[in-house]
Formats: sequence, C-alpha cells, structure tokens
Amino acid sequence: MFDNASFDDHEGIHFFSDRESGLRAVIAIHSTARGPSSGGTRMWDYPDGDAMLTDVLRLSQGMSYKNAMASIPHGGGKAVIWGNSKTDKSEALFQAFGRAVDSLQGKYWTAEDVGIDTADIEIAATQTPYAAGLTTGAAASGDPSPITALGVFKGIQQTAKRSFGTDDLNGKTVSVQGVGSVGGYTALHLAEAGANLVITDIDQEALSDIAGRTGAKIVAPDEIYDVDADIFSPNALGAIINDDTLKRLKVKVIAGGANNQLKTPAMGESVRQAGILYAPDYVINGGGIINVAAEISGSYSRDWVDDKLDTLIDTLGDVLDDAQQTGRPTNEVADEIARARLAAAGA
Ligand code: NAD
Repeated sequence: MFDNASFDDHEGIHFFSDRESGLRAVIAIHSTARGPSSGGTRMWDYPDGDAMLTDVLRLSQGMSYKNAMASIPHGGGKAVIWGNSKTDKSEALFQAFGRAVDSLQGKYWTAEDVGIDTADIEIAATQTPYAAGLTTGAAASGDPSPITALGVFKGIQQTAKRSFGTDDLNGKTVSVQGVGSVGGYTALHLAEAGANLVITDIDQEALSDIAGRTGAKIVAPDEIYDVDADIFSPNALGAIINDDTLKRLKVKVIAGGANNQLKTPAMGESVRQAGILYAPDYVINGGGIINVAAEISGSYSRDWVDDKLDTLIDTLGDVLDDAQQTGRPTNEVADEIARARLAAAGA
C-alpha cells in the first residue's frame, strides 16, 4: 500500500468488512489539517482490490485540494464501497457502512458520490451523525447538484471572460457532454444566458427533457468532440481530455463539472499548447461540497453558500490569470495553490 503510486502520505486508510451485510469498504483520510475530512462515498464494481485502493487514495487527495480551494474548514477524505450499485444495495449494507463511518469519530464526514443517492446516506445516518447531504434534519442541504451547476455556470462565464474578453455567453455555442444532474442544470443556466447548446448523453430521456427545455441540438456521444463550438462543458465522465479527443476539439474553453477530466496531469500542458483555456475541474465543481459543508456546520445558510461560491469563482479567476500571465497550465497553478493552502494549515 505505501508503494502505491497514488499514496500521498495519507493520514489514515481504514478497511471495513461486515460478513452479514457483505460490506467491503475503504475510507481514506488524506488530511485533517484544515478540519475534519469530508468527501462523498462511491459505490463501484471494481475489478480488484488494488483498483479500489488506488481510487480511494486518489479521490481523497482530490478532496483535500477541492476543499482547500473552496475555502471550507475541512480536510479531504473519501469512502469507496465495493459492489454493484444497481444490484448489491441493502439496508443492512448501509447500516454497516454507517457504523464504519461512526467508528472514525468525526474525522471523516460522508455524503453522496457516484452510485450513492440520498436514500443510502439517510440509512447510514441512522448509525452516525457524520453523514451529510440529507433531505431531512435541521440543517439538511439535500441534492448538491443545483449548487454545483450554478458554480459551473459562473465558472464558464469566468473562463469565457479570459478567453473571449467577455463573460456574455449570448450567441456562444457550448457543447455539453452529459445532461444528468449537474449537466442538466448547467444547460438550463446556459440557455437562459442565450448560449446555443449542442448536447449529448447516453440517457435518451434526459436528452429529450433538456433539449425540450433549451432548444439544444442533440448529437451522438462520440460526436461531441467534433462539434464546432466555442466552449466544451464535460459533465459526465473522467479522463475525457486525452490525446485523441484533444485533436478533435475546436473549442477555446473547456469548463465543466465532471471530476478528473484530464487523463493525466500532463494533458494540462497539451491543452494549453492547443490554445484552450481549461477551468480545473476540482475548482469549478466545488459548489456541491460547499453546500454539504453548510449542512455539516450545523445550520444551513444559503447566503453563506452563495458567498463561498462567489469566493470560489474568484479563486478560479486567480488561477486562470496566474496561468495566463506565467504561461503555465491551469491545473499546475491550481495544484500549487491548493498545496500551499494545505501547507499553511500544517499538512
Ligand atoms: P449524473 O449521473 O446525474 O449525470 C451524469 C450523466 O452523464 C448521466 O445523464 C449519464 O447518462 C451521462 N453519461 C454517462 N456516460 C456518458 C457518455 N459516454 N456520454 C455522454 N453522457 C454520458 O451525475 P452528476 O451528479 O451530474 O455528476 C456528473 C459529473 O460531475 C461526475 O463526474 C461527478 O463526479 C461530477 N460532480 C458532481 C457533483 C454533484 O454535485 N452532483 C459535484 C462535483 C462533481
């Protein structure tokens, strides 16, 4: 484990198994230097334990960076449950998971991520107070996606300002990959701002819903990279910025909510050399964790969330400015600022 390439001096890596419910979970705490760690739980049918461990190491480190950039008093952590989210869920599984979270006594707060919905977290929350993203309770913050999408929209404007000299999106063409929770809400904001949308998804129902509400043109999933657009907004999968797709993209801006968009960190430099301004994913998509942090604070305030979101988007602007002034890739600048914030907290 200590020689895993994704190990980054994580504070703790906790393995849990519960024979009765079949739970196999890992909770990785990357850092608590800035406060208790927070980050969602992912349920995924990993090919093997190594893949599971690598994922949780990488994701928990990413949460330290994301939370630092979002200026919330949290460190980074993440949980992964090994299993198929369509077939392996049960009440007993999430009760066992809730007990696992509880055993860490508040060093890690959980919430939803890929494969996990509010109902699952509600079950875990019967066993531990350290669960957020709930729909009931005094400080419940509910689905984080609308706030994530609002941040993504504001981040697109911020990035457009630096690339086109204006944040006015009226008449700009935006290609949107994925119109699920985040992509769907983002598309609605973009349409309201007068952007022309070209959208894709593998879910036909989501596609026709968003196309019906925005007048967007629909293209097949693989065609999204070839669209003659000004801005590409990835809101579905990771690793979609790679040597193959970069050759095809005609846009000047990449700005969307999907996590881990660059296949490798080195792609940041390739994107820069291609004349594209990239909004680092863990900066532009931090709205959701800000919303969750408001709940964790014990008293949810939408004003507090809006203030933090505006600060985050200003931080994104600083990252883009620094990158443009110094001729460096935006992901490198963001990582540097995040690491400095962690170091300032003693990490
Ligand atoms: P979601 O499941 O609601 O939406 C994802 C959409 O992508 C779905 O509609 C799905 O059909 C579509 N999709 C899957 N494969 C595709 C493909 N090959 N081509 C086109 N579309 C495809 O998930 P979400 O909550 O909207 O999250 C989207 C991304 O944003 C993820 O990477 C997630 O980690 C990230 N993110 C989400 C939040 C949040 O608040 N939900 C916060 C931060 C980051």
